[in-house]
Amino acid sequence: MSSYVKAKEVTKMANIKSWESEEVGCTINIDYDQCSGCGECVEVCPTEVYELVDGKSTAPNVDECIECCACVEACPTDAIEHSSC
Ligand code: SF4
Ligand code: SF4
Repeated sequence: MSSYVKAKEVTKMANIKSWESEEVGCTINIDYDQCSGCGECVEVCPTEVYELVDGKSTAPNVDECIECCACVEACPTDAIEHSSC
């Protein structure tokens, strides 16, 4: 007797939130499947772009971004994608 498990098709849902600044001309994408809510991005950003909300990072002050890329470098889970970095 043989049995097998039928391969299940899994659709990976992207759980990404975006903040865009026309002023700066940049977009910050945060992958909520990757973000652990560690707060490193909040700590390192010199212009306080980030805020933790319900244990996840948000970027409400994206207009203040100076494109230094410290957030991308600091994020331990590679959750941040920044269009200028
Ligand atoms: S540094 Fe990365 S993992 Fe940590 S809160 Fe920010 S986006 Fe999330
Ligand atoms: S690139 Fe620099 S200024 Fe812009 S959000 Fe990241 S840490 Fe803040």
